[in-house]
Amino acid sequence: QRRRDLASAAEPAATLDGTPVTVAANIGSVDDARTAANCGADEAGLVRTEFLFLGRDTAPSVEDQERHYAEIADALGGRRVTLRTLDVGGDKPLSYVTMPTEDNPFLGVRGLRLALEQPDLLHAQLAAISRVARRTPVNVMFPMISTLRELREARAALDRACGSDGLPGQLRVGMMVEVPAAALKVETFLPHLDFVSIGTNDLTQYTMAAERGNPGVARLSDPLDPAVLQLIDHVCRAGRGRALVAVCGEVASDPDAIPLLVGLGVQELSVAPRMVPRVKAQVRDLDVGHCAVLAKRALTLASAADVRALLG
Ligand code: PEP
Ligand code: MG
Repeated sequence: QRRRDLASAAEPAATLDGTPVTVAANIGSVDDARTAANCGADEAGLVRTEFLFLGRDTAPSVEDQERHYAEIADALGGRRVTLRTLDVGGDKPLSYVTMPTEDNPFLGVRGLRLALEQPDLLHAQLAAISRVARRTPVNVMFPMISTLRELREARAALDRACGSDGLPGQLRVGMMVEVPAAALKVETFLPHLDFVSIGTNDLTQYTMAAERGNPGVARLSDPLDPAVLQLIDHVCRAGRGRALVAVCGEVASDPDAIPLLVGLGVQELSVAPRMVPRVKAQVRDLDVGHCAVLAKRALTLASAADVRALLG
């Protein structure tokens, strides 16, 4: 079975009734990009660009970044690459940026909040991204947005970084939906976006008020909690016909979750590179009508345990 999955992994996946589902890879390095290509990923749905910024004494230059992003795109053979702008904060400090000590770094100056406070850093990154997007298909994606104002500021920074030539034709603009406020207000963001990608790792932690990675609250932080599913449902309904809706949190490769996500209308699953063949194989066995009935039922349940019981 595994050999058959790998052989067909390079082909795009569609459900039994013909609904296409893009299966993309989450990557953090050029090596990951090679693995993703070998595993048949349709795209890179999330490039965690932090790898270029952490563990060094000075910020990477525009040229450094351009070279790395181009190398990733080359390793993926020209498939679309989603470059997420720097997503660090108090929990992952940068030695060359002064950050205040915070009691709750996950609720503090992180993600786009930090980037907007460091305009030179953001400008350099967006300049590198726009250069790469003049040669190859690129998505730029902004993390940790809560308000339209933040998105407008990010878009203005992007326009400045692209200069008088304007936005490259192959550049699409999106944001992570990983804050409940952004999920609930997604309609207000959509006119400014080509796509959204739901970051269920953070969306779950903020919805359930349960810190990710904290074993003491692990039981609470299940992305299949109906509260999280309701937010995903809201985003999918709002996005239909207006912007592509992806999921790039870990839940996108959870075999229990995949029928629900497809049933809710998620169009792209972005997963760890080695998961791609298995996720494509599962998508090919799904019936969207059946998935939609399951999803509708899951939305009415009381707990993640009940949802998992429904699926099991
Ligand atoms: C997420 O929050 O779901 C996500 C994909 O981003 P990260 O795990 O990098 O925070
Ligand atoms: Mg996140």
